[in-house]
Amino acid sequence: MTTWRGRAGVLRAIKEPFSIEEVHLLPLDPHRVAVKTHASPFCSTDVKNWKGKLYKIPPTILGHASIGEVVEVGSAVSGIRVGQRVVVPGTPECGVCYYCGIGEPWQCGELFDLGGIYPDIASGDDGARISCAGCVGGYAEYMSISGNQVFPVESDLDSDVLSMLGCGISTGVGSVFNVAQVQPGESVAIVGAGHLGLWMLQAARLAGAGSVTVVEPHAERLALAGSLGADVLVDPGSTPEEAAEALAAVRAATGGRGADVVLEAAGPAVSQSFAVQASRRGGRTVLTGFEIGGATLPLPQVETALQSRRILSSQNGQVHMKSDLQRYTGLLERGLLDAAPILTRRYPIEELDLARDRSGSLDDVCGVIVFDH
Ligand SMILES: [Zn+2]
Ligand SMILES: [Zn+2]
Repeated sequence: MTTWRGRAGVLRAIKEPFSIEEVHLLPLDPHRVAVKTHASPFCSTDVKNWKGKLYKIPPTILGHASIGEVVEVGSAVSGIRVGQRVVVPGTPECGVCYYCGIGEPWQCGELFDLGGIYPDIASGDDGARISCAGCVGGYAEYMSISGNQVFPVESDLDSDVLSMLGCGISTGVGSVFNVAQVQPGESVAIVGAGHLGLWMLQAARLAGAGSVTVVEPHAERLALAGSLGADVLVDPGSTPEEAAEALAAVRAATGGRGADVVLEAAGPAVSQSFAVQASRRGGRTVLTGFEIGGATLPLPQVETALQSRRILSSQNGQVHMKSDLQRYTGLLERGLLDAAPILTRRYPIEELDLARDRSGSLDDVCGVIVFDH
């Protein structure tokens, strides 16, 4: 049995710099595959993980989406071969749990029944056992992944672009196509223009949205949304009065009613409450963000209980990776989804702290950690 050994950016302690160190994968469980990592997006969620806001337990390797080449296949895994390029999304599809059985693999028990306790997959030179946060651990040269969480992809596109399939693209595009099911001509508002919101914007235009309004306080990101085809740009400001003005602006852009569909990609509870109020009576709001574990969401009662607004949730964009992944890849290949404005920088693993800082300060829309391949 081969020992897979390589560099990793290990979260040894909350809010401490990542430890860039050599680790080796533990002997491969029969149900797992070893993957040599090509690229992993640095998602803004990992800024929160680094700050300890989402219950991740050190020592662990963050990075909840990735792509790479299969280098070893456990004896109990079928359908995966050494040498295949595979997307590793943040969510497995085991096919046999209750949720996979009822056709809702985005809640697959193989991940969510773990209760946030992830398996140890590697060991440091000091003997420390290191887990893979979210069952991926993409900020490492080698990953040990469940055979149910690797999806072969056929494409000539670079791995750095395709690495985003399992994070921003699945959640953003899936929110539009699968969750909201935006119909041609519907008005769409997007709250937040980070990587997720910008994928939503592109998907909403693909779906034939009648108008797209983007609400975003960061001036550069708002301008980027404009260059990607948003019809109306709204700065929500920072005070309750400015937020009320922004809400009025969204309604003014949507016949005075509010949008048919509001897609929230910001995180703070105040943004989610705003999103619901920006939808029309009976409209759909898709919530994707979260700020900190344990947070609650206050909603106005009349608008939600009396006025028929529907609130939907979008874990992993409700995608079926086996059927949706290759279609989304096709959209990237044809240029109907454009990664260029979203993938702002590439980093070697040694610059993981820099990638985190630039994600946190909004200097990057989405940085990608790349490995030699
Ligand atoms: Zn499952
Ligand atoms: Zn993510």
